[in-house]
Amino acid sequence: MYILLMGPPGAGKGTQAEKLIDEFKIPHISTGDMFRAAVSAGTELGKEAKKYMDAGGLVPDVVTIGIVREGLSKPECANGFILDGFPRTEEQAVALDGILKDLGIKLTGVVNISVPDSELVARVVGRRICKACGATYHVSFNPSKVENVCDKCGGNLYQRNDDKEETVVNRLHAYHEQTEPLIEYYKKQGLYKEIDGLQPIDKVYADVKVSLGCSK
Ligand SMILES: [Zn+2]
Repeated sequence: MYILLMGPPGAGKGTQAEKLIDEFKIPHISTGDMFRAAVSAGTELGKEAKKYMDAGGLVPDVVTIGIVREGLSKPECANGFILDGFPRTEEQAVALDGILKDLGIKLTGVVNISVPDSELVARVVGRRICKACGATYHVSFNPSKVENVCDKCGGNLYQRNDDKEETVVNRLHAYHEQTEPLIEYYKKQGLYKEIDGLQPIDKVYADVKVSLGCSK
């Protein structure tokens, strides 16, 4: 099972990844994890990446791709993985094809958990958090008994800046701009699978498995 997992923020990608990990015992590989691993192992590429990260800059593609190559070459990835957060551009997708070819790996599928923007905005914008204890609520899906008051501790509920509508809309816009070319790229390869992320979690998971060629 060599899975590339895609989906906008808030689509439930993390939940689906956990289910796949549980069932298929394959590692979940995010670019963030690969960067941290390379930096802490002090590999040449890790040192190079750290220079850019310390300076607050973007790590150049050549370094990122090198780190992904190192990460996917590890023995724990030999029997499968869920790759998340890479590729982000068509150039990176081409590079990934090269890495996988060298490793003798064929992707099982590119799975996109798709949820309409209007729904994602509603999910995020309605989120409320308790200032005192951190409990989370949702104004429509999981409201507190008394408006803006925490059921657990009586603390005040607030909306994080990250969850404001304008921020979410901008984030989704950037996501779509980045992702559309990748969707086309993997459609051409016959690997692209779009899953309706509006369904209940277990139905989404059943569809993910079918899309990867597993029976239920
Ligand atoms: Zn509270």
